[in-house]
Amino acid sequence: MSSPSTVYFISGAGRGIGLGLVKSFAARSDSLVFAGARAPEKADALNELAKATGGRVVVVKLDAGSDEDHKAAVELVKQQDGRVDVVIANAGIAEGPALTATGPPEAYSKHFATNVVGPLRLFQALLPLLQASSKPQFLAMSSAVGSNTLNLAMPNDPYGVSKAALNFLVTKIASEHGEADNLTAWVTHPGLVATDMGNLVVDFYKAQGVDVPFVTVDESVAGLTKLVDNATRETMGGKFVQYDGAELPW
Ligand code: NDP
Repeated sequence: MSSPSTVYFISGAGRGIGLGLVKSFAARSDSLVFAGARAPEKADALNELAKATGGRVVVVKLDAGSDEDHKAAVELVKQQDGRVDVVIANAGIAEGPALTATGPPEAYSKHFATNVVGPLRLFQALLPLLQASSKPQFLAMSSAVGSNTLNLAMPNDPYGVSKAALNFLVTKIASEHGEADNLTAWVTHPGLVATDMGNLVVDFYKAQGVDVPFVTVDESVAGLTKLVDNATRETMGGKFVQYDGAELPW
């Protein structure tokens, strides 16, 4: 294929919001999308999409905790086009419930490993390829639950703490690489989205008789796609913006 207009790299792409983002960006006939999945052999929907797009979706084995996977992914991207324009650190876990008094410390370490160190590993691996782009963007999938200011009541503190740390990590990335590398680095909250993860939250509230509004994967992805398309360092760099464009407090 001739040089793609935009090269995307999305982690956690086997299901949920990640899969939706891959579909959205791969719908453009001149895009190239690297789709990370920690067990590609089980990612049936993603593999089908890759087949249907004739090489424009490249499925990459990518466990958030594996340096080897990240090294191999970098080599693959280098061979295909030598640059990445948009990286979306989407892979994440939310296991619970756990509150500060009783939540096992191991639960905090586990969330930190996937939700903070995972995006850091992805950023470090792909930075040289982002530096090869004329309009590089690094987006991390955070959560409103990670906002200190909102301090939302959710019985999953290891998750919230990890997302607050992710927010700070991306703030540092934005300040260290914004001007230096022309990098637009920002974090988002995708909405309360009806995925395997989001449905757990919806069910939790339903069990208490509370109906919480949620959005579909398509609605969340449509909003995020628009934001990614229009993001500039001036408008989005170092910001926390949810899928519909509303800015969130840290
Ligand atoms: P899902 O649980 O549906 O999907 C999570 C994805 O992350 C899967 O592809 C999963 O892979 C991948 N993943 C988990 N652990 C690892 C790991 N160690 N290495 C590589 N990949 C991993 O979640 P969503 O699609 O709902 O969430 C996507 C992101 O959005 C997450 O970061 C989440 O925190 C965030 N978010 C979601 C909200 C929601 O309401 N859904 C709200 C706020 C934030 P596998 O299939 O192999 O398990």
